[in-house]
Amino acid sequence: MTHRNRQVSLHDRLGAFPREQYLLCMATVLLVEDDHVVRGAMLRSLADRGHAVHAVGTALEALRRVAAETPDLVVLDLGLPDLDGSDALRMLRGITDVPIIIATARDDEQSVVRLLRAGADDYMVKPFTGAHLDARIATVLRRAGRASRSAPPAVHEVGELRVDLGERSASLGEQALALTRKEFDLLAYLAARPGRVVSRRELLEEVWRQPSVGEDQTIDVHLYWLRRKLGESAAKPRYLRTVRGVGFRLVAPD
Ligand code: CA
Repeated sequence: MTHRNRQVSLHDRLGAFPREQYLLCMATVLLVEDDHVVRGAMLRSLADRGHAVHAVGTALEALRRVAAETPDLVVLDLGLPDLDGSDALRMLRGITDVPIIIATARDDEQSVVRLLRAGADDYMVKPFTGAHLDARIATVLRRAGRASRSAPPAVHEVGELRVDLGERSASLGEQALALTRKEFDLLAYLAARPGRVVSRRELLEEVWRQPSVGEDQTIDVHLYWLRRKLGESAAKPRYLRTVRGVGFRLVAPD
C-alpha cells in the first residue's frame, strides 16, 4: 500500500534529521501547476516532507490565493492555461514579495535571466525530483529569512494539557502521557487548533496523509486510545469533543 510506504519514509526522515531542522524547513507552499499528474506528484512529495501545500491550476487563482493568504513560498509553473508564465510572475510580484521558484520546461539562458530579473528567486528545469525541489525551497526560504517565521510554536497548551512538539511529548497536569506516534500526531494537530472543529477528512489528509476513502475507523481507533490516555471517554468527554456529523475539536474542559 503506497500510503503506508509514504508514512515510513516520513518517519525515516523524522529520525534522520535533527527535529529543529525539520521544523524550520516546513513551509506553507502555494503550488501553481495546471498538469494534474505533475501537480499530484508534487503535492504528495511536498506534503511528505512536512510542508503545507495548496495547489491551484491557473495564474488568476494563484493571484487570488496570494492576495487572500500569504504563503511562505510560491512554486510557479510557467506554462499555465490562462496567462503567460512571465506575465503571471510579474503580476504576482506586483502584489507580494513572497519567494517564488519558477518551474519551467525552458532552460535557455535568456529566458532564465529574464525571469530572475522579473523577480523570481530561483528556477528549476522540469523534470525534477521532490528531494531537489525540497532542497531548493529550504535554500530560498533561508535566503529570504522567512524560515523561522514558518516554524510552528514549539508548545501548545490547552487547559492542563501540554503538547511539546520539539520533544514530541505530552502531559496532562503533572502526568506524562505515553502516546504512540500517531496518537501524538493526532493530539498535536488538534492542540494546534484549540476550539476549532476539525473534520475526519482533514485529519486523514493532514495527520495520516491519505485521501479520505472510507477509512473512518482508523481515526476512531486512535481517538479511542487517545481518550483513554486522557482519562476520558466518548460518553464523558472533557478535552476531546465529537461534533456529530462534522468532526472533532479539542477544548479546555469547563
Ligand atoms: Ca503547465
